[in-house]
Amino acid sequence: MKKLTNYINGNLVAPIGGSYLDNIDPSRGKVYSLIPDSDERDVALAAKAAKEAFPFWSNLSTKKRSDYLLAISERIEARMHEMAEAESLDNGKPISLAMEVDIPRARDNFAFYATAILHEQSESHLMGTTGFNYTLRDAIGVAGCISPWNLPLYLFSWKIAPALASGNTVVAKPSEITPYTAYLLSEICVEINLPPGVLNIVHGLGPKVGQAISEHPDIPVISFTGGTATGKQISATAAPLFKKLSLELGGKNPNIIFADCDFDEMLKTTLRSSFANQGQICLCGSRIFIERSIYEKFKNAFVEKVSQMKVGIPSDPKTKMGALVSESHLNKVLSYVKLAQEEGGRVLTGGNRVILEEAEFKDGYYMRPTIIEGLDAYCRTNQEEIFGPVVSLQAFDTEEEVLAYANSTRYGLAATLWTSNLQRAHRMAHKLESGIVWVNCWLLRDLRTPFGGMKQSGMGREGGFEALRFFTEPKNVCIRL
Ligand code: NDP
Repeated sequence: MKKLTNYINGNLVAPIGGSYLDNIDPSRGKVYSLIPDSDERDVALAAKAAKEAFPFWSNLSTKKRSDYLLAISERIEARMHEMAEAESLDNGKPISLAMEVDIPRARDNFAFYATAILHEQSESHLMGTTGFNYTLRDAIGVAGCISPWNLPLYLFSWKIAPALASGNTVVAKPSEITPYTAYLLSEICVEINLPPGVLNIVHGLGPKVGQAISEHPDIPVISFTGGTATGKQISATAAPLFKKLSLELGGKNPNIIFADCDFDEMLKTTLRSSFANQGQICLCGSRIFIERSIYEKFKNAFVEKVSQMKVGIPSDPKTKMGALVSESHLNKVLSYVKLAQEEGGRVLTGGNRVILEEAEFKDGYYMRPTIIEGLDAYCRTNQEEIFGPVVSLQAFDTEEEVLAYANSTRYGLAATLWTSNLQRAHRMAHKLESGIVWVNCWLLRDLRTPFGGMKQSGMGREGGFEALRFFTEPKNVCIRL
């Protein structure tokens, strides 16, 4: 069975403790590889290597850093199919999604930040004839990057690329549930001769490896994406050490549909925004609010389409819904369906585990996409993040009413709005408590825009120059004329 390795100081190495964790293929429910069960000793080695590499890397010309990142991007492109297969195998997502979204986006993340640094400017502030100021933005040091399992390489590279581009060295931890493409990335770094210590990847469990990164005194900046509870734990560790923190956390996003929208376009996109990646995208719209006059029309059309969605083997290019990421996550999602019923909800379609006919896949973690109605906006099902293929439907009458529903959770990550009334779109976009508002679209992404959440969905923003600013320390230099 294949054993993955850590990537420390330019070498692919076994964990110091010599122990390994099972890596499960969720489409079959079977162990298919082993990953390092690293601990604080591996993190210490990685942090030492990164600290030693920092003076060299941060003083390298912008052009040379850019060239290294472009070389990584090109190798991801060259290994696209292999990496998409790896992502699908590890995560359970359809291979078509990994080919269309995950791996191309990882390639683009490196290319985007490789070229962004070539166009960066810093501010200067003139004081008439008395003086002037200019701002230096220097790399901070060793950055800790911790990422989740839902969009593994996509989110891993979304942190690593700006951290490296701006001159930091990195100690990174992918989710232990989906480590495979991070391992392939370390192979790529070896292939392109990335200088030793610039990027270090330590595999293992959050409470061991992630915690050791958050605590390490030589890692002054942490970028984390994951659940709100983990974000709280990382803040509690990092805040007394005065570390710089970026937190991208959970969501419970509203999808608001007005009667004047383009119905067909809305329906097509709402299928994706509800169930893409088995509903395991932090940006999925899990609370669907529909203007009362089209509630029945929407409900009937949506239920019909969703009940036809094929749940199948992820490696089949025709599959739209693959496996959920793990058995424990599947059980958590199913427990929310039960809770919804206890809270008075009616399951309109789905709600159950699926056992595929193909014998090899019968133990996989499949579930039918699920629609629930009859819940109020404030019950637990509509307030807590489920992070699976479960959405609820609720009718509304007025803008004020739906705004109150939409803003009622502790989260504020993304909102989607369907209307052809431009004034209403602007009015609502202004009032929604959400870091991202999509109007008549979903997941339309421009990498230059600020990305992140309000309230308990996070702290700080990623994307574009926001990320380069996060990974640098501004210093004002004032000169008297
Ligand atoms: P978790 O918070 O469980 O884990 C995220 C990462 O943190 C993993 O690598 C995990 O390791 C690690 N970790 C766990 N405990 C600690 C700790 N004490 N210290 C440091 N690191 C730790 O999230 P999931 O992986 O379950 O991902 C799903 C969550 O991510 C959802 O809530 C989703 O909304 C959110 N998310 C947010 C996004 C955003 O942009 N706002 C985007 C995508 C997802 P291990 O895997 O070993 O536990």
